[in-house]
Amino acid sequence: MSLLSVVVPCYNEEETVDIFYRALVDVLKTMDIDYEIIFVNDGSKDTTLEKLKALYEKDREHVKVIDFSRNFGKESALLAGLDASKGDYVTVMDADLQDPPEYLPKMFKVMEENGDDVVGTRRVSRKGEPKIRSWFARQFYKLINRYTEVEIVDGARDFRLMKRQVVDSILSLREYGRFSKGLFVWVGYKCEYLEYENVERVAGETKWSFWKLVRYAMDGIIEYTDMPLWIAFWVGGFITGISAIALLVMLILSLTGHTVTSASLIIALVLFMGGSVLLSTGILGEYLGKTYDEVRKRPHYIVKTFYE
Ligand code: UDP
Ligand code: MG
Repeated sequence: MSLLSVVVPCYNEEETVDIFYRALVDVLKTMDIDYEIIFVNDGSKDTTLEKLKALYEKDREHVKVIDFSRNFGKESALLAGLDASKGDYVTVMDADLQDPPEYLPKMFKVMEENGDDVVGTRRVSRKGEPKIRSWFARQFYKLINRYTEVEIVDGARDFRLMKRQVVDSILSLREYGRFSKGLFVWVGYKCEYLEYENVERVAGETKWSFWKLVRYAMDGIIEYTDMPLWIAFWVGGFITGISAIALLVMLILSLTGHTVTSASLIIALVLFMGGSVLLSTGILGEYLGKTYDEVRKRPHYIVKTFYE
């Protein structure tokens, strides 16, 4: 029988892990497959670890718990879970039941029928989400897809069913700044999306503040496009062009006997130039920072205990 690994990143999910576990196992039991559930406790500050350890004691055959030494973020938790997974098939799910386990049998069926390597899921609505957040999300997808070689599907969730080979490919990418939505697509393979309406979390609250999302979007754009460099180039070029024309005009005016009383204009130009230089330096710094992260080759996470 083939093995399915379910990777579940958890951060302050004391209210949801039990409900999630029960709902998931109910579905898995109806399927003709062996399974392991890998919970990654991403430095929770509540009783999530105790809850997970209790599940592990109850169901040692199926449950594994990776306990991080601190909060490393969802991307690192995902990576740790994928690293530990042994399944012929691997799926990644949130602990809050926003990724409905009932979809798993359907995903397997689609995968088998169409010979896919990956079956992903995609929200067709964002109901229950703040309007402003949805708007920014849409702009983000528009922007990133205009400038990347890979198509990052709007509304695609991390919830996906993958064959072993796809997981191995993802794991072969060891970069530090991980943007899974991009990595999953970057590796290629035959992929298909199931669509569903947004589901609200069963309990607890979202771990993503608005600014955390902005940071996440920035990471995606910087990891996958060189658009910010292009903006710097464009803005810098525009400002330099305008000031060159202005200087030329002033030169002509003074040559034709007019007085050039344009100290304020020059000050404005200087400020503009200074600003544009600062802007490009800032953007370069962003890339430099990323390069520095890669060069340092730090581990992505530190496991304190692995209950297996
Ligand atoms: N999560 C995590 N580490 C973090 C933040 C979130 O492991 O630093 C987990 C969280 O426990 C959940 C999943 O990532 O299982 C998605 O988080 P959440 O539901 O808060 O995000 P949303 O669904 O609102 O985008
Ligand atoms: Mg959620």
